[in-house]
Amino acid sequence: MADFPRSLLEFQRRFPDAAACAAWLTAQRWPDRFVCPACGSGRAWALATKAWTFECAACHRQTSVTAGTVLHGSKLPLTVWFWAAYLMATHSNGISALQLQQQLGLGSYKSAWLLCAKLRRAMVAPGRAPLAGLVEVDETEIPCRAQDDPPTGGGGRSSQGKLLIAGAAEVQDGRPGRIRLAALEDFSAKSLHGFVAADLAPGATAKTDGWSGYPGAPGVHHEPHVIGPMAAHVVLPWVHRVFANLKTWALGVYHGLRRPHLQAYLDEFVFRFNRRRTRHAAFRTLLGIGLTLKPATYNMLIAPEPRA
Ligand SMILES: [Zn+2]
Repeated sequence: MADFPRSLLEFQRRFPDAAACAAWLTAQRWPDRFVCPACGSGRAWALATKAWTFECAACHRQTSVTAGTVLHGSKLPLTVWFWAAYLMATHSNGISALQLQQQLGLGSYKSAWLLCAKLRRAMVAPGRAPLAGLVEVDETEIPCRAQDDPPTGGGGRSSQGKLLIAGAAEVQDGRPGRIRLAALEDFSAKSLHGFVAADLAPGATAKTDGWSGYPGAPGVHHEPHVIGPMAAHVVLPWVHRVFANLKTWALGVYHGLRRPHLQAYLDEFVFRFNRRRTRHAAFRTLLGIGLTLKPATYNMLIAPEPRA
């Protein structure tokens, strides 16, 4: 489907006001006709007194077009949500909360950060298929940016720690397919097996550098290449390119990553990489995926992530 804007100008024409955004959301949620989420009735009317809200003719339950979606309960205008999703999805490198606040003229950094966090949460499709076939698997470290660290992470406090990351990249006909990244507690066999089990399909072939942590990962074939550290990028070119791009991106957009919410930022990188050839469609996916999520509270978003 080509039903998404392909330029800023087209976007502006397509979504000039909240009514246009609400009409688009309504069509996404109920492509044929409204269906009451409470009783399943298809008869409803739009309320004149409440914006973008339907009342069921059978059970009189009122349903907002944003209810139960990533936009639920937000005080921000729909147009701001749409602009944010468009900028986040189509910009080749993404956009930080600070940039978003400036671009959209938002009143506070906190609301910009929340907007980004909610959209980022919509970047992991529930039930997405694990990687399959031949998959390069490796791990890397990036400097942890502490609160007062210089952006390069090269300051005196960079000894506060490294962020440990496992990565995997499908290889199809010698080209990279989809990727996955996971924040790990350590590089033990248990942690690495957990990553492989979560992100590789049963029967996939894991191509690794022969690090002792991978053999025995259940359900996958293992193809170790025991090599010196200098040659890893030759044997595992695609996952190494992913790591290099990740490091550049983390510094360029976020001035380095911090331990809290690391997985959410990795998920954003993965979302962007896996849609690198369909950036404009990613806008649709971003809001579309969000429509299947339960709304997140502020406390859910700021809570520390469970560590893999
Ligand atoms: Zn009903």
